[in-house]
Amino acid sequence: RCKKEARGGYCVSSTADNRAAQDRLLLGSALRESLAKGMLNLHYQPQVDIKTGRLYGVEALSRWKHPTLGNIYPSRFIAVAEDTGQIETIGTWSLEEATRQINEWERQGLHVPTVSVNLSAAHFRNRGLPALIERILKERKLTPERLCVEITESVMMDENEDTMAGLAAIRNLGVGLSMDDFGTGYSSLSRLTRLPLTEIKIDRSFIMNLEHDPNAQAVTTAVIGIGNRLNMTVVTEGVETEAQLKLLRGLHCDVVQGYLFARPMAPDALLQWATGPEMERVSVMARDVLNE
Ligand code: C2E
Ligand code: MG
Ligand code: MG
Ligand code: MG
Repeated sequence: RCKKEARGGYCVSSTADNRAAQDRLLLGSALRESLAKGMLNLHYQPQVDIKTGRLYGVEALSRWKHPTLGNIYPSRFIAVAEDTGQIETIGTWSLEEATRQINEWERQGLHVPTVSVNLSAAHFRNRGLPALIERILKERKLTPERLCVEITESVMMDENEDTMAGLAAIRNLGVGLSMDDFGTGYSSLSRLTRLPLTEIKIDRSFIMNLEHDPNAQAVTTAVIGIGNRLNMTVVTEGVETEAQLKLLRGLHCDVVQGYLFARPMAPDALLQWATGPEMERVSVMARDVLNE
């Protein structure tokens, strides 16, 4: 386990490993308590259709503010949830909460066409997932296209029959199915054509380098082209500059999500954003790019 030790040297990593494992357990029980008390929240980040300048949908992202530990980001607690058997609880809660919120916005006068929820690979091994989604949609009286499920390439690459049957069953409900962080895993393009996807999200790492790295531009161009040909919506995430937006527009990208337009926001802030001058500013920005 420790290379230094194997070479006969001094090694501290096993105690460090123990400490990391201990931290994870502590964080795991704090998470269990917070989940039970309903102390997690969802924030929502707008996705903008850059051809029309209108709101395409929002992505729901989990937020955890612990009373003494402070803000803990999903990059940390989602892994803890996976390790401590709580990822299905989080997935089910996000589905219920996001669909409750889309109805709440509707009552407040804001129509959000679609809400996207992130689900982990582990949740897909549960055969009950499609039925759970069906039940939630029914309870919320929502048509299926109001919900989209985001999964990473690891789910798509899982040759497991239950996973594949689950993907097909979810797609058959009419719910959107999005491949998140595309380009960071090992999926092949031929595989892409055989999966019941409605959407591809190009990973932020490509967008980040779009202006200066010809390779990132080549990959982005190819993925947008293939997505369009396969009748999938292509979403680019992590768009932070107008220069990136202009490039993406030229490449016929459909939907943009990133700090350039807005950060993930609490539900009330999203309502203000989408119904006020911010949405107008974003629409104008998208249209200006169109007219150039
Ligand atoms: P993701 O699904 O790829 O979500 C996009 C992440 O990029 C979010 O980070 C978002 O805040 C961030 N982001 C959006 N636009 C920009 C930008 O312009 N610049 C930069 N630098 N970042 C941007 P966040 O909220 O910290 O989430 C991280 C990851 O944690 C998510 O990546 C997702 O994989 C996972 N995650 C979040 N919530 C959930 C959840 O409820 N369930 C599961 N299973 N995973 C979740
Ligand atoms: Mg996502
Ligand atoms: Mg992503
Ligand atoms: Mg990402």
